[in-house]
Amino acid sequence: MATHKLLLLPGDGIGPEVMAEVEKIVAWFGRAGLASFETERDLVGGAAYDAHGKAISEDAMARAQAADAVLFGAVGGPKWADVPYEARPEAGLLRLRKDLGLFANLRPAICYPALADASALKRELVEGLDLMIVRELTGGVYFGEPKEIVTLENGQKRAVDTQLYTTGEIERIARVAFELAKKRRNKVSSAEKHNVMKSGVLWKQVVTAVHKAEYPEVELEHVLADNCAMQLVRFPKQYDVIVCDNLFGDILSDVAAMLTGSLGMLPSASLGAEDPATGKRKALYEPVHGSAPDIAGRGLANPLAMIGSLAMCLRYSFGLGEAADRLEGAITDVLASGVRTKDLAAPGANAVSTADMGDAIVSALERM
Ligand code: NAD
Repeated sequence: MATHKLLLLPGDGIGPEVMAEVEKIVAWFGRAGLASFETERDLVGGAAYDAHGKAISEDAMARAQAADAVLFGAVGGPKWADVPYEARPEAGLLRLRKDLGLFANLRPAICYPALADASALKRELVEGLDLMIVRELTGGVYFGEPKEIVTLENGQKRAVDTQLYTTGEIERIARVAFELAKKRRNKVSSAEKHNVMKSGVLWKQVVTAVHKAEYPEVELEHVLADNCAMQLVRFPKQYDVIVCDNLFGDILSDVAAMLTGSLGMLPSASLGAEDPATGKRKALYEPVHGSAPDIAGRGLANPLAMIGSLAMCLRYSFGLGEAADRLEGAITDVLASGVRTKDLAAPGANAVSTADMGDAIVSALERM
């Protein structure tokens, strides 16, 4: 059995608490003989700043480069509000994304039947929802140059951001979306604004060309990004995989997140390019939520977003689809049995601790 090298970067706030539950599950898979992991741990974010004066050490970066996958908790908190800009906790995550070349961000929005009433939408619209937003993560308007605020001769200021995409950047994210769709319900919706943006015109052309040449068997539709936002709250179950640029992906993935209820439930993956020699991709898996300083250290955090991120890692980095199904099945079962952390519990209802939720998942895995 192949041994998978996993680097754990718990980070700050509730990061270490939710990562501890993932470690229980990793250990369980090893004990059950279903997978073999070699895990290392290191510091990131404020914890790394306290130890090394920077948000991630060179040593930890080298470990991340050598690992088959990185599991990341969360970073930040009021303690580090005044550290120098380049050493702020988020800089650790940005460095990882940049140095590992993580250009594809995958955010599933899954609505577990037991949680459908926690959604902002009506139960019938979201129950059984399972869509995936594939967001381009390293290009577009967040990075394009020029990016500046200049003072004009008349004293006014002018701010410029530049939306910029090349053929290659669009092709590689489109391929990620089509590949995912093939393993799901075989449909890709590409969201852009070709009606008002040149980058949208190119995006649509390139996605269409990749589809025609490489994935004609997958259903492709083009949707204007603003319409996509509207459709997501009108009838989200029409979507399987949505692919979009960095800016639209940022917004649409947050809309999709709220369809599912709680921030404590949302996993994510960020993938790099496939190494032609090994077929492997650099990859980082993390919950969508932050370090939640308001509840840190009290056993209140919901570990399911972090545990769901491990399930994505099993599926996308290690090719352990059955193990991933089993872990996701355990999450469904535990929720169906009524076990809730405080963020999911109805007001006044009983809630379990972070560790209890992790233990419940391990028990469910054992029963399956
Ligand atoms: P947050 O996601 O940390 O918290 C928002 C709210 O959701 C809080 O009330 C929190 O208690 C709750 N929450 C979040 N995760 C939860 C969980 N697993 N279980 C139960 N409740 C949960 O966002 P924020 O408050 O805006 O930011 C707090 C800190 O986290 C800041 O320093 C911010 O910069 C950082 N942050 C980090 C990341 C990251 O590491 N990727 C992402 C977002 C925010």
